[in-house]
Amino acid sequence: MEDCLFCGIVGGSVPSTAVLETERSYAFRDIKPAAPVHVLVVPKEHLGSVEDVGAGQTEVLADLFAAIRAVAAKEGISESGYRVVTNVGEDAGQLVHHLHFHVLGGRSLRWPPKGSDAGG
Ligand code: 5GP
Ligand code: ZN
Repeated sequence: MEDCLFCGIVGGSVPSTAVLETERSYAFRDIKPAAPVHVLVVPKEHLGSVEDVGAGQTEVLADLFAAIRAVAAKEGISESGYRVVTNVGEDAGQLVHHLHFHVLGGRSLRWPPKGSDAGG
């Protein structure tokens, strides 16, 4: 989608630091990391948020979660644990309107999330 930052990152017109890529997903480092590991996992196709996910998105969702697990394994946090966060809309502080999952780990995270532990 034009004027979408993460579509630009997926397409390569906006630079990013890749972590891994699958058939339908792309994972790259957050520009403002809130934890030692802070990776964003996005679908290559444009979806605005969880609000755009339905029965037609089962395959892309399965791919996204496989990518999330692969990121955790590659970053060495599968055993220590990690948090997966997706913000939806204004009250959640969603800044980029292309579905993305924050994968946070590498330190102990607070629950309920406060400040940087909220993945924003
Ligand atoms: P949201 O608040 O929408 O859930 O999170 C957006 C995330 O995207 C933030 O954590 C922010 O640091 C990250 N971000 C914003 N612009 C860029 C960018 O140009 N490159 C990368 N790698 N991350 C970005
Ligand atoms: Zn997009």
